[in-house]
Amino acid sequence: MHIVMASSEAIPFAKTGGLADVVGTLPIELCHLGHACSVFLPAYKSAKQYWSERPEVKVHQAVASLVVDLAGYPVHAWIHRVNLPGSRVDYYLVDQPMFYDRDGIYGDSHGAFGDNCARYCFFSRAVAQAIERLAIPLDIIHCHDWQTGLIPAYHRTQTDHHSWYRRSASVMTIHNMAYQGRFWGPDMILTGMDQGYFHWESMEYYGDLNLLKTGIAFADALTTVSPTYAKEIQSHPQGYGLEGLLSARRDRLFGIVNGIDTSVWNPQTDSNLSFHYSLENWAQGKAACKRSLQESLGLPVRPDVPLIGIVGRLAEQKGWDLILQLMRWWIDHRDVQWVILGSGEQRFADALFQLAQQRPDRVSLQTTFSDPLAHRIEAGADLFLMPSLYEPCGLNQLYSLRYGAVPVVRSTGGLADTVCDATPENIEQGIATGFVFDDYTPEALAQATIRALEIYSQSPQLWSKIVAAGMSQDWSWSKSTKDMLEVYEQARQFAKNDQRLDS
Ligand code: ADP
Repeated sequence: MHIVMASSEAIPFAKTGGLADVVGTLPIELCHLGHACSVFLPAYKSAKQYWSERPEVKVHQAVASLVVDLAGYPVHAWIHRVNLPGSRVDYYLVDQPMFYDRDGIYGDSHGAFGDNCARYCFFSRAVAQAIERLAIPLDIIHCHDWQTGLIPAYHRTQTDHHSWYRRSASVMTIHNMAYQGRFWGPDMILTGMDQGYFHWESMEYYGDLNLLKTGIAFADALTTVSPTYAKEIQSHPQGYGLEGLLSARRDRLFGIVNGIDTSVWNPQTDSNLSFHYSLENWAQGKAACKRSLQESLGLPVRPDVPLIGIVGRLAEQKGWDLILQLMRWWIDHRDVQWVILGSGEQRFADALFQLAQQRPDRVSLQTTFSDPLAHRIEAGADLFLMPSLYEPCGLNQLYSLRYGAVPVVRSTGGLADTVCDATPENIEQGIATGFVFDDYTPEALAQATIRALEIYSQSPQLWSKIVAAGMSQDWSWSKSTKDMLEVYEQARQFAKNDQRLDS
């Protein structure tokens, strides 16, 4: 199969969260299985910087140049083809400096960019044109999140029998229902779609244009990033207003857990670590990585103290209000160290900063985005907290399992699907991998963390069993890629049944 992906993020070009990891890795896995894969991305400043600093990256400038009519204004797009060393994936970067040559991907310190609707309508429309212009022989167009929600709409409404629309099926992956790309109604003109589609069954949501809804309404098949999240988004509150549409299309909605890139997230080879380890010598490896983490962050170097790691966006979704309450309760009373890495909302940064100032011997806080530090925290932490309000999939708990940092998670979305609670029976059977709680309250988080801390300090053998069970699991892309290929087949079948696809 030839799969074309369109996304607003992919490592190594641009990343704000898990979407970039997924779109960075899945195409490579598809190529390993013998499929062909191309990825379209905006040519952000960060992307250009990436390739300009690396002569080994091959860039073919302007392999196509086209014009998008954006509300009556002709706007040029230059498509650059980029090839990374050792990779068979073709990356097509859509260049328009007016939209993408800035710091930040979706916004800056003043908030979201005011022209995001234009930026991503332009991107989606340029992708649709570029596929045709470059004559890419695709079977599947796979779109990710609201930024590319317009593409399935073109795909579905095009009637030209000779175009790529008749040869391929569309798949839309929802990474997070909370981000829908909702803009005021008059922005409909930027989409280039007939005004007739601006109604509640397709592109309109209470008078606004909704680009995620557009993708959900038009795609041949839908996926989201875990089976539990696929169920949760069909009802309130996780559907964020689109639960009715998702429930109506549930026969086309599939939940597939994201995989992790095990070439990057591997404690045996991770270049960010001072000591490499595997299941065989994890205790020794973790002790060494913990010492180096404590040293580098200025925390007291103590092997005995439990070290709690947290990495994530400073956003309400990640459960920071629970974490902050727990920290306030414990800060002077419990002998634990907190190592926190998170960037995002200032209110959370300020509250965490106060705690770090109060007890610098117990709390280390970094409010930057640092991939190397994220790796070192996973390696050095004994426990890893993810008390999310909701979590479509979550990658950090998967990294934690692999690095022997036992996850303490709330039972929601992908966390519920990937972490098995350390009940006495589960530990006995060797299937317990972490600590899971239900209620979204600081008390419930405290109870789960206390359960973990008690086993950690009182029953090292049981702790080893939990760590070993987590480290032995395989959360690589190999299974998820096969599941995704089945969805691609299904999508083609749906399109054929709808008599849209040439057989
Ligand atoms: P989400 O996509 O909702 O942000 P995920 O757990 O799916 O959450 O993925 C988050 C990704 O971003 C992980 O790879 C995580 O390590 C990384 N990450 C988040 N915040 C930071 C940060 N401040 N520094 C480095 N990496 C971060």
